[in-house]
Amino acid sequence: MKIFRTPGEMRRWSFEQRARGKSVGLVPTMGALHAGHRALVEASAARDDFTVVSIFVNPAQFAPHEDFDKYPRAFEGDCRLIEEAGAHAIYAPDAATMYPEGYATYIEVKGLQDGLCGKTRPHFFRGVATVVTKLFNAVQPDRAYFGLKDGQQAVIIQRMTKDLDLGVEIVTIPTVREADGLAMSSRNAYLSREERERGLSLSRALFHGQALMEAGERDAARIVEEARAMMTDMKVDYVELVDAANLQPVDRVDGPVMLTMAAFVGNTRLIDNIKFKG
Ligand code: AMP
Repeated sequence: MKIFRTPGEMRRWSFEQRARGKSVGLVPTMGALHAGHRALVEASAARDDFTVVSIFVNPAQFAPHEDFDKYPRAFEGDCRLIEEAGAHAIYAPDAATMYPEGYATYIEVKGLQDGLCGKTRPHFFRGVATVVTKLFNAVQPDRAYFGLKDGQQAVIIQRMTKDLDLGVEIVTIPTVREADGLAMSSRNAYLSREERERGLSLSRALFHGQALMEAGERDAARIVEEARAMMTDMKVDYVELVDAANLQPVDRVDGPVMLTMAAFVGNTRLIDNIKFKG
């Protein structure tokens, strides 16, 4: 397994592979990897000649009061999972390499970055869009793989890639869940056993909303209200039914939509969503 620490050495390796006619896939992560990340790595390994997994806990997407310092870090275990899943290289720069003194450039995806998670975390998507652009520049991938678990993020990355002519194909992968429905997340490690139990209301509320839509319910307010009523024992941040393409709230389900939510269980903020074809 190759481990690169700087954009220069990463790019040199990637250029070599591409000059030989090989394709390169990138799976951007913040580490503390689980089966959701593994699905992304396996998807790339199945399709691309070479797969690079980036591991970088990006300070630019955390507010000062958020969990940057205590975000789980597990580099050795991550390396094992990455190798087993069929990847070839890890790109793991440090914060001083990514944002040296004097760093001043940020990417904003107007409109899409402001609603849903952007309301509670106003700097979040600016940090994500910026770091993903930097990762694309370092790795020079043909394709990059993102999870639909972060539904708003996937839409923003697709928009940004198109707007900036980045020339990377964006591949999205369905959310991987625990057997009981809880969406896998590195942050689940924060949950006590009792909090984890409470956190299950999130996926239950989503599945209920999905069942309503499948049974023919089209009234967005009704679907949101019923889902929200199931989110007991947690502090709801938002529950919204939005157009799957532009993330604007809808009144009725008459095309592809995303039912999406965030809630605090204790101090841990969990997010989840499902798409419905409409
Ligand atoms: P993170 O390390 O949390 O920044 O996530 C890195 C990538 O893994 C993102 O594209 C996420 O959407 C994706 N991901 C995280 N959790 C899951 C999951 N449960 N299922 C599918 N993809 C996921």
